[in-house]
Amino acid sequence: MINLGKYLFIEECRQCHQFIHEKDEHKAKTLCHICFKQLNQSVPKISHIMLDTERVLPVLSRLPYEGLTKKLIYNCKYDNDRLLIYDFALLMQTAWAELEKLIDTANLFLMPIPLHWSRQFKRGFNQSELLAYAIANFTNKPILKSLKRTRATKAQHTLNAKERFANTYQAFSADKSQTKGKNIVLIDDIFTSGATLISASSTLLEAHANSVIAFTLSRALFK
Ligand SMILES: [Zn+2]
Repeated sequence: MINLGKYLFIEECRQCHQFIHEKDEHKAKTLCHICFKQLNQSVPKISHIMLDTERVLPVLSRLPYEGLTKKLIYNCKYDNDRLLIYDFALLMQTAWAELEKLIDTANLFLMPIPLHWSRQFKRGFNQSELLAYAIANFTNKPILKSLKRTRATKAQHTLNAKERFANTYQAFSADKSQTKGKNIVLIDDIFTSGATLISASSTLLEAHANSVIAFTLSRALFK
């Protein structure tokens, strides 16, 4: 059968392959209203991870990293399906009210977890950066990019928990003049061990950020 959608520029649902129609003010671009609703039913989760003996990093995660979510993140990062980012941000935006209860919303900035330039060059884009820009569109919050990767790290999914912390230890630097006094929402796609988030948020606090919270699209289930 000829796939008419491809000729008419109608997107197909990435899950069930039905053409995506506007229904009930459905805004998603890559999922039909049924598949989007299925993901949207997940309840956002809040975790608190210890940075040291006194400081705690709140992490708000929108979806469990499993099933359809896992498949879509893979397709986005490794099959270059960047339109998915719009729907990921749409889902994250529905948890924005929860996030605002956890941080001072004055002087608030969105900050993507940076990739090392070598990985960004290889992939062609940073999924966390695209997510942050899409969320900024929904929330009207500015983007701050004062955090940099100081060295290339190994892909976290290839390492065990202990190795992940060693891999990301002091992997970032932050520009103090841009970071000082700001309330920062760190944006990332997957929260697994928290090693990357801990390293990045510690660096930001050392650069005198007023407060940091992490907001992730997904969270791996702890076994
Ligand atoms: Zn569908």
